[in-house]
Amino acid sequence: MSPSLESRIELCHAPTPLEPMDRLGEWLGLAPGTLWVKREDCTGLAGGGNKARKLEYLCAEARAEGCDVLVTGGGRQSNHARSTAAAANRLGLGCTLVLAGTRPDHPTGNVLLDQLLGADLVWAGDLDYYGTEAAITEACDRLRAAGRRPYAVPVGGASPVGTLGYVRAGLELVAQLPDLDLAVVADGSGGTHSGLVAALGDHQRVLGVDVGTRPDLDDRVPEMARAAAALAGLPEPAGRVQIDHDRIGPGYGAPTPETRIALDAAARWEGLLLDPVYTGRAMAGLIRAAREGRIRSGQKVVYMHTGGTPALFAAGYAEWIETGAGSAGPPVR
Ligand SMILES: *Cc1c(COP(=O)(O)O)cnc(C)c1O
Repeated sequence: MSPSLESRIELCHAPTPLEPMDRLGEWLGLAPGTLWVKREDCTGLAGGGNKARKLEYLCAEARAEGCDVLVTGGGRQSNHARSTAAAANRLGLGCTLVLAGTRPDHPTGNVLLDQLLGADLVWAGDLDYYGTEAAITEACDRLRAAGRRPYAVPVGGASPVGTLGYVRAGLELVAQLPDLDLAVVADGSGGTHSGLVAALGDHQRVLGVDVGTRPDLDDRVPEMARAAAALAGLPEPAGRVQIDHDRIGPGYGAPTPETRIALDAAARWEGLLLDPVYTGRAMAGLIRAAREGRIRSGQKVVYMHTGGTPALFAAGYAEWIETGAGSAGPPVR
């Protein structure tokens, strides 16, 4: 039997809240009641974030296949790796994480949490997106040779099964705000974007903001959206994929001036904490779309807060946050 919207193990606090952002909206020239934030940072699993949604479905498949260890990977500060380690613990499974880079002398942010959660960490050196996928496969082969039954979770949880998590979240969002025009979301692996498109039925209703991890988002997002819609029993999504590729700057995770403005604006207008890698770039994309008039007056827009707060505490960002604080937001009174 193929997986469906029912094939999940509950790991999330859901429905997550949908909150107004009228103060930020006013700064952007948007009418009251038109700008909202979907609090996917509040999914509850070991710090929350979007990966918990996908893991509900991925873990159900791992269980159905009789696996005893989850294997995944990502960048050093991967939120997905941390979330997978937490899910494994909830279900009594082992967890191996293949991380790009070398073992840090002083673990910070998500690496510290990976250690606290007790995952087996494999430091794999310089890896790009598909190099990480290959390293996950190799780790599974080693575990199988040692008599284990590994379940390979792709980078970002981005398989059609994992994407079902965001079909479910998208349906939840439509129930909260039926006349929503546009959701804005960070694109790493593209799974979150794809699931939302499948739920909302039209690529025109989702704007992805590329954070610079995956080279082939323009092909993979429509493909995963179609596959997830089919699994969920929904119609094939209409329209053409929308991705903003211009917010990457020097590369994945690199601080940029506009990300800094985005972090300040969210923090100072709304008391909302964003991270420099994903949610800050998505907000920079939203700010740009509003400033360039691509959001029409009265359109209802939902900013997807996909989590990532632990990355704020990763080595390297403290100085960037300390210097030049207050680049956007209300004047200090
Ligand atoms: C992984 C991640 C994303 C991107 O989600 P994808 O489904 O991989 O595109 C966005 N925000 C945060 C905080 C993430 O950890």
